[in-house]
Amino acid sequence: MVVPVGGLGRIGMNWTLYGHGGRWILVDAGIAFPEDRSGKVDALLPDPEALRRAVGRIDALVVTHAHEDHIGAIQYVFPRVLSCPIWATPFAGAAISRRLEEAGTLGEADLRTFPVGGAFRIGPFAIRSIRLTHSVPEAVALAIGTPAGTVLHTGDFKLDPTPLIGEPTDLKTIHALGNAGLLAMVCDSTNAERDLPVTSEAEVRDSLRRIFQSRAGIVVVCCFGTNVVRAMSAADAALRSGRQIAFAGRSLRAHADAADRLGLVDTQDILAEPSHLRGLDRRETALVCTGTQGEENAVLARLAGGTDWRLPQLGLGDTLVMSSSVIPGKAGEIARVLEPLRARGVEILTQDNTPEGLTIHVSGHAGRAELATMHRHARPRFVIPVHGTEAHLQAHAALARDCGAEEALVGTGGEAMAVSASGIKRLGRIEVPVLGVRRDEGVLIARASTPPHTGLVERDQHRPLA
Ligand SMILES: [Zn+2]
Ligand SMILES: [Zn+2]
Repeated sequence: MVVPVGGLGRIGMNWTLYGHGGRWILVDAGIAFPEDRSGKVDALLPDPEALRRAVGRIDALVVTHAHEDHIGAIQYVFPRVLSCPIWATPFAGAAISRRLEEAGTLGEADLRTFPVGGAFRIGPFAIRSIRLTHSVPEAVALAIGTPAGTVLHTGDFKLDPTPLIGEPTDLKTIHALGNAGLLAMVCDSTNAERDLPVTSEAEVRDSLRRIFQSRAGIVVVCCFGTNVVRAMSAADAALRSGRQIAFAGRSLRAHADAADRLGLVDTQDILAEPSHLRGLDRRETALVCTGTQGEENAVLARLAGGTDWRLPQLGLGDTLVMSSSVIPGKAGEIARVLEPLRARGVEILTQDNTPEGLTIHVSGHAGRAELATMHRHARPRFVIPVHGTEAHLQAHAALARDCGAEEALVGTGGEAMAVSASGIKRLGRIEVPVLGVRRDEGVLIARASTPPHTGLVERDQHRPLA
C-alpha cells in the first residue's frame, strides 16, 4: 500500500507512507512554504497525529536527501510526536542531527545512517538505496521490496552525466530492478512538462570559470545553502582566477563543513570568515552566499543593504551571479532585494540574463527526456507520479503510459493506493490536516489558518485504514 501524504498538487511537504501486512514506514518528512505569509506561518507540514491515528505505529522514517521539502519537518515531529528510528545517508544524517540538536532532542532521537547504495531491512520491508544525481550530495532512490513486490521510490533526481560530487545516477541497478520485474514506481514529476536538454553541473562550473576570469571586480555567487557542489564550483573558479573566496550563510557553511568531514569535498582553501576578505583587491575577492529567494535576513539581503561590516561592499564593476531557480511567488521579493545593488551599478546575472550565453544554473530535476530514460530502465507496471502540481502529475502520468506503464494513477494528498500483482486501485483518503509552524516559537505547532488550507477536518473524522 502506498499513501502519498503530501507532495501532490503542490510543491513541497513530501511525506509518503508505505504499508504491508499492517506495518508502515514513512519516506521523507518535509515542509512546504506557505504562499501567504499573513498568518506569520514559516512552514507547513501534515498533522503527524492524524497519520498515527490512520495507520497506527510507524516503524521507521527513511530519508532520500537533505532538502527542506524532504527533511524540513523532522525537528518539529521527531522524536517526540512520532518516535521511530530515522534512516538517512551520512550527509542527510548530518543535516538532520544539526536540526535535532537545535531543537534539543538529538539525545532522544534514534538516527541511523546507511551508505549510498546500501541495503537494510525494516520489518517486512527490504530497502536498497540507489545512487542518484540531484542538487544536493548523497541523494538516493529507494527500492522498497515486500512479498507483494518491489516499488521504486525515486526521490528527486536528474541524470547528470558529470555531477562533480559523486558518480552519475546508477541506471545499471535500476535496469536490473526492471529486469527482475518492478511492480511500481513513485516518481519525481517536477519538470514533467518541460522538454529540457540533459544538463550538468560541469556546464555551470565552466561558465563560472569564464565569469570569474573575465570580471575585474568582486564576484559573488548566490546559491541554495544545500547546493554544496555549486558553492565548490564557485570556489574552484575563484581560486583559478587568482581570487580568495569565503562562504557566507549559516546553512551553506554547515552543509559544506559536513561534506568536507565526509570526504565529499575539500574546503581547506576557502577562507574561514567573509571578514577575512577585507583589505583584498577587488580583483582578488570572491564570495558565495545564500538568500537566493530574497529572504529578509539572509546574506544577500545584508549585502544589498551594505551595512554588514563583515561583508564586502559591492558597487560599480562588481558582479553578482544568481545561481538558482526562482521559487514560484518569490520573484517580487528577489527583485526588491536586488534593487539597491542594481542602483549601485552591480552587474547582476540571472538565469534569464546571461549576456554571454553562459549556464549559471541548471535544474536538479529530470526533464521529460530524462524521465523517459528512467521509465525505460525501470519498466514499472504501475506509476504514481509525485512531487508536482496537478499539471506536472498529469503530464508525468501521460509520459509514463507512453513509456509502457500499464497504469499511471494521479492521486490527491492522503489518498491510499493498493498496489499488488493483481493491479493498482484507490482505497480512499485519510484526511490529514495541514499544520503551520512559526520558527521563532521553536517546535510549537499551531493550526495553519492560511489559505488554501482552511476548512480543516476535525480529528475525530479521520478514517482509519483497514
Ligand atoms: Zn524535493
Ligand atoms: Zn530535492
